[in-house]
Amino acid sequence: MALRPFIVGNWKMNGTRAMLAEARAIDRSAQRLMKVEVALAPPYTLIHAVHKEAEQIGVGAQDCSAESDGAFTGDVSAAMIADAGAKFVILGHSERRQGHGESDALVRAKADAALEAGLKLIVCCGETEATRDASGAEAFVVRQLEGSLPEPFEGVGERLSVAYEPIWAIGTGRTPTVDDIAAMHRAIRALLVERYGEEEGGAVRILYGGSVKPDNARELLGADEVGGALVGGASLTAESFLGIVMAA
Ligand code: PGA
Repeated sequence: MALRPFIVGNWKMNGTRAMLAEARAIDRSAQRLMKVEVALAPPYTLIHAVHKEAEQIGVGAQDCSAESDGAFTGDVSAAMIADAGAKFVILGHSERRQGHGESDALVRAKADAALEAGLKLIVCCGETEATRDASGAEAFVVRQLEGSLPEPFEGVGERLSVAYEPIWAIGTGRTPTVDDIAAMHRAIRALLVERYGEEEGGAVRILYGGSVKPDNARELLGADEVGGALVGGASLTAESFLGIVMAA
């Protein structure tokens, strides 16, 4: 991997203040592993607390509103999460797309709002099992990203990451083959270069996500064009998450 590996933990709807000890342990170990960029996306309620704990790791949110302020009960704006200490936001996770009906256009609008608030982005994409079986996965994912990624902006290589997460691999213990991951990541790289140019598009890290564990991380992270991992279940304890960070 030529780019500095980026390992991100997505805590999803898990975590109360009792879990801050895990964040602290992850942060302390990350200080000794400078060649890997480590980050956590806890639920909104813990962003500020994790930010206060963290000396080394980045802290982000799992979503944000496309709106800047106003009468949107229950929503949280990009500026609010930035104010709480978030440096990045995950957008377009399949659990948002499927569970909350988020379209590519909405993901793009959220990306624009996040950039406006000075945040970095992790834009997610991934196909269902039916699409994979029908051999249409690469075309589907490229189309999804075409609709979800923002127009060229200042500092793309530094501020944008893409996470490829096949929906059928999330939380299931199943993963694609290394060859399938590499083929998908090459297709995503081609789109990024086409959209943002050779230099900026070439500097975007493309993360793999979906059942990444300490025992498969080395193999998955070794696939061509894999620049890191977006980790769900295995990011909930310092022990398993650090096992993945160590493999990077
Ligand atoms: P998982 O989730 O690691 O539990 O499969 C990954 C994700 O949804 O980001």
